Amino acid sequence: MSRTPAVTLNNGVSMPQLGFGVFQVPDAEAETTVATAIEAGYRSIDTATLYQNEAGTGRGIAASGLPREELFVTTKLWNTDQGYDSTLRAFDTSLAELGMDYVDLYLIHWPAPARGSYVDTWRAFERIHSEGRAKAIGVSNFQPAHLQRLFEASGIVPAVNQIELHPRLQQAELREFHAANGIATEAWGPLGRGKGLLDDPALTRVAGKHGVSPAQVALRWSVQLGTIVIPKSVTPSRIRENIHVFGFKLDEEDMAAIADMHTGVRIGPDPDTLS
Ligand code: NAD
Repeated sequence: MSRTPAVTLNNGVSMPQLGFGVFQVPDAEAETTVATAIEAGYRSIDTATLYQNEAGTGRGIAASGLPREELFVTTKLWNTDQGYDSTLRAFDTSLAELGMDYVDLYLIHWPAPARGSYVDTWRAFERIHSEGRAKAIGVSNFQPAHLQRLFEASGIVPAVNQIELHPRLQQAELREFHAANGIATEAWGPLGRGKGLLDDPALTRVAGKHGVSPAQVALRWSVQLGTIVIPKSVTPSRIRENIHVFGFKLDEEDMAAIADMHTGVRIGPDPDTLS
């Protein structure tokens, strides 16, 4: 079993730097997949209302037998639930699905700016946080302009912005903006969803040099940038492989080779237009 280092969020809450994502894991499989991840040493699990597997995720966590406080659970509010009252209702539903009385981190999944609701949504998040039902609150897929609006409207700076981030989309400017404002960067899609990215010759060369896999290099790169990272897999051997990234270090030459892989091409939607 492997232990992961922690990152301290801007409200003092401690979050494991590497966690487990469950996007596209069917609810019926989530219980065993999450249990396998916890067995392998993951202590942070990332789900969302959109994934329709909060219930299975909750069952997997319960099945681990670990005390709730040893796990860090994130879920996200879906776009159609944005707005003050609808957010409060959606959060109650998420907690009921998870079978929990609090989450560690609650995120606005997308800014969906065309809806014009993310500031009202954030006010509901502040209330949920003040009630202790989310230990930390944050956002996902927010651009600097969206964050700036929250800063102007609210006293609480998001603890986290979870964004698409991998060697082909390195998000240097957004990471700098986060650092300047005390927001932790969390990388989704850190493996570029698998195939294309992991076959890249630069990654495979660095992997060969260290005797690790391209997936481990991509995750180690993210860790060395200082970001939180949440790879997903349903394959037990890969679940175990992906958490073993703390026993080797990329040197300057490796980091430079990976820096050269940036293309700026997204896998996911454009945060300015998705609604
Ligand atoms: P990912 O980059 O983690 O890729 C996962 C895929 O990579 C797997 O399905 C598998 O095909 C492959 N893979 C995994 N481990 C491997 C290994 N060791 N070797 C070879 N191939 C391997 O993609 P993701 O699931 O999109 O992102 C991770 C998590 O981020 C999600 O599960 C979810 O929790 C979160 N996420 C958030 C958002 C958001 O909008 N906030 C969007 C997408 C994903």
